[in-house]
Amino acid sequence: MSIRTRAAPSPTGDPHVGTAYMALFNWAFAKSQGGEFVLRIEDTDQARSSEASEARILAALNWLDLPWDEGPDIGGPHGPYRQSERTDTYRQYAQQLVDQGHAFHCFCTAERLDAMRAEQRAAGAPVGYDGRCLNLSGAEVSAKQAAGETSVVRMRVPSEGECRFRDELRGDIAIPCSQIDMQVLLKADGFPTYHLAVVVDDHLMGITHILRGEEWINSTPKHKLLFDYFGWPMPALAHLPLLRNPDQSKLSKRRNPTSIDYFRDVGYLPEALANYLALMGFSMPDEREIFSRAEFLQAFSLDRVSLGGPIFDFEKLNWVNGQHIRGLNADAFMDRLQDWAINRQRLAPLTPLIQTRTERFADIAAQVDYLLGDRRPLSEQDFTHKKLSRDQVVEVLFRTARACDALAEWRQDALLDLCKANAERMGLSLRDFLAPLFIAISGRPVALPLFDSMAFLGADITRVRLREALDALGLSNKQRKRLEKQIE
Ligand code: GLU
Repeated sequence: MSIRTRAAPSPTGDPHVGTAYMALFNWAFAKSQGGEFVLRIEDTDQARSSEASEARILAALNWLDLPWDEGPDIGGPHGPYRQSERTDTYRQYAQQLVDQGHAFHCFCTAERLDAMRAEQRAAGAPVGYDGRCLNLSGAEVSAKQAAGETSVVRMRVPSEGECRFRDELRGDIAIPCSQIDMQVLLKADGFPTYHLAVVVDDHLMGITHILRGEEWINSTPKHKLLFDYFGWPMPALAHLPLLRNPDQSKLSKRRNPTSIDYFRDVGYLPEALANYLALMGFSMPDEREIFSRAEFLQAFSLDRVSLGGPIFDFEKLNWVNGQHIRGLNADAFMDRLQDWAINRQRLAPLTPLIQTRTERFADIAAQVDYLLGDRRPLSEQDFTHKKLSRDQVVEVLFRTARACDALAEWRQDALLDLCKANAERMGLSLRDFLAPLFIAISGRPVALPLFDSMAFLGADITRVRLREALDALGLSNKQRKRLEKQIE
């Protein structure tokens, strides 16, 4: 049987480096054995998914050179590969489970479920659905539906016994059924939850092996029950450890850049990033740390995947990138530099900004230094302002950083709106509010227009610069906590 793996990203934000990590391992597992690698877009969360995010994920995986054999852009024999286009299929399978008594309609309202959970918490009991709608008769269900009551479909879970499955990296795992929640499978809007869609799709798409993040281990018992209810074999599973910050917390954009676009924009080579990501969960038989894609594929096997929580270490990544850059011949080096930023596509958004400010081409480098390269290091003195106190400067930067974290789409108008709203809340003029931001972003009191600069730099670089500015100002934990409370 041919090996088939998949990457299954949810298009709900920036293309995350964790997505690339999982895609790389799935790709390597399939390709090292002559198998196929499928890209499936898991966009069942209608509120959070966007086409723009999907396009960026595809571009990022292409940049990393992880080609898929089937996917939403190229189709394939098991399509469509976008879950929002497969809702009829999920509904049909949800109905099958209801008909066979493995799932049931649940009419409980959100208020009732909230109250139930609050009671369970107060009693120190495990939080989960209490089964109120479990035994509604067919006639009762029909009557409620006829009366226009909305319902979801939940899976049944045996009240006794345990659910067993095997993880290729961790061995056998057994979970008592009493710990498995009666998961919603189909929401009131007719869309499936991840749990139903993932099981149906992995089966219909012929996936043989699932390599995914360890955060999904707790969901696996539900998936195992569903595979059993449908009478389908469960693909082999391997849960890989999550990438972590140096303090062991989960890698998150609040603390570190996580978008693949960031790594591209600051000039990592895709093969170096892939090499580094490979090192996060895999080691070469000879412990060599610098290797090519072909060498990785040749040596890849699940036996060489380790379970230690991999720490994402930018210094190490820089070293790996430097090794790859120095390994290029001079022609390749010039080509790659051009691919990176000295090209029409990258310069196009800058042109309207710099052309009118340019008398000689020699003027250009000093204008765009902080856009194409790092911003100069900052100190507290850089933020001295004739009207704003240090605390106000800190608050401006802190508010902006927080608002940027929450911004769904990185657009100039949205950035302007968030600054206006926060300036108003602080009782400052927009001009005064923006002054510390100019310094934080460009390192200079006067630079190219701020929102154009932030838009060009992208969310991650902007966030990094705001965080570094707060560090330069010596933001203490106490002050951070106070500000967090204040702006809630
Ligand atoms: N859509 C899920 C995610 O974004 C995929 C989980 C899985 O691989 O089963 O992580």
